[in-house]
Amino acid sequence: MFNIDNIRKDFPILSRKVHGKPLVYLDNGATSQTPIQVIDAIVDYYSNYNANIHRGVHTLSQEATDKYEEARHKIQHHFNAKHAHEIIMTSGTTESINLVAHGFASLLKKDDEIIVSALEHHSNIVPWQMLCEKTGAILRVIPMNDSGELVMSAYDNLLSDKTKLVFVNHISNALGTINPIEKIIKKAHQVGAAVLIDGAQACPHVKPDVQALDADFYVASAHKMCGPTGVGMLYGKESWLNKLPPYQGGGEMIAEVTFEKTTYADLPHKFEAGTPNICGGIAFGAAIDYLNSIGFDNIASYEHELLEYASKKLLEIEGLKIYGPKLSHKTSVISFNLEGIHPYDVGTILDKLGIAVRTGHHCAQPIMAYFKIPGTIRASFAFYNTKEEVDILVEGVKKAKMMLS
Ligand code: PMP
Repeated sequence: MFNIDNIRKDFPILSRKVHGKPLVYLDNGATSQTPIQVIDAIVDYYSNYNANIHRGVHTLSQEATDKYEEARHKIQHHFNAKHAHEIIMTSGTTESINLVAHGFASLLKKDDEIIVSALEHHSNIVPWQMLCEKTGAILRVIPMNDSGELVMSAYDNLLSDKTKLVFVNHISNALGTINPIEKIIKKAHQVGAAVLIDGAQACPHVKPDVQALDADFYVASAHKMCGPTGVGMLYGKESWLNKLPPYQGGGEMIAEVTFEKTTYADLPHKFEAGTPNICGGIAFGAAIDYLNSIGFDNIASYEHELLEYASKKLLEIEGLKIYGPKLSHKTSVISFNLEGIHPYDVGTILDKLGIAVRTGHHCAQPIMAYFKIPGTIRASFAFYNTKEEVDILVEGVKKAKMMLS
C-alpha cells in the first residue's frame, strides 16, 4: 500500500525548515532525497565493516567485498542485465558516458557519424564532441519540435551506414520528455549502430529492462534514485565491453603487470581501476531495494497525479508558460516561466519561502536556445511530494509574480 505519510517519515530531511518555513523540496531532478534505510546502510558500513575490497584476506575486507558485489547483483537484477559483470560501477552518469566515449576513440575513424539528440544534458553532448575532435567523426543532431519532442522523421534521415553510435536520454532533465527509445534503438540497430541511453532522469521513475530494450549501453546515477552522490552505473552488453579498451589504468583493473607488458582483468574489473566508492556502491544497492519496496507502478501513478494537479494549478496563473510535451508524454517535471520575469528572480523568492526549485539552463543550453530563453524554473516532483506542497508552490509563484511585476 502506498502511504504518503509513512513514506515521508522515511526521509528525515523533509521535516527541516528553510528560512523558518517547512522545506518544500521540488528539485528532485537535480538530486533526490535519501531515506533512512539508505542512511542506515551508510552508517552501518562505516560503523561495522569499513575496509578495502577484493584484496584483503581479513574478515572486514571479505564482508565489504561481499556487500559490494551483492549491490552489483541488485543493480543487475533491477536493470535485468544478463550478467553481473555487465554492470560497471562508476562515479555517476557523467563518468559512465565518458568511459564509453573514451573507449570508442579507438573504434571510430574519420567521417564515421555519431548521433545525439537536441534534448540532451551537456554530459551527453560534450564527451561526444571531444570524441569527434579526437577521431574526425561527425556529430549529427536529431532536432526537436515546439513541444519539446524529438522529430523522428529527421532521425530516419540522419541514419545511414556511416552511423556508428547513437546517444539519447531516456527522459529529458530540462522538460521531462519521455523519448521513444525502443524505436530509436531498433532503427539504429538496423544500420548497425550501437546505442547508449542516458537514464539519469528515467531511473527514479521507471524500471528499465536493458535486455527488452536491447540497449547496448545504459547509464544512471544513484543520487537521483534515493542513493548517495558520487556513484552510478554503466550497463554495457558483454560483447561491447569486451571490445572497449580500459578507461583508466591502476590497481584492481589488471591481470598481471610487468614493465614489458600489462594484461587486463576480466569484466567488470577492467573498467574499475583503483579503490571504488565502496560505501556508495553498497548504499546504491540499498536505494534500489528501497525504490522497489515502494514499487515503480505506485511511483509512476502517484507522480502522474501530482504532475496533473500541479500543471493545472500553475496554468491558472496568467502569463505562466510551461515548456515541454503533453502530460502523457512526460514525467513529473514542470519547466516554466513567468512572462517578462527572469527565472532566477522567481527561484530566489521561492527559496525564501522554503521552496527548492532549480532555475537556469539545466545543463541543456541547446534546449534553452531553441526556445530563445535564458532558462526556466523547474519544479521536479518525487513520490514523497504532496498536493499540499504543490499548493505552497503555486501560492509562492503567485507571490513572486506580484513582487516582480
Ligand atoms: N544526464 C541527465 C539527463 C541528467 O539529468 C544528469 C544530471 N542532471 C546527468 C546526465 C549527469 O548526471 P551526474 O551529474 O550524476 O553525472
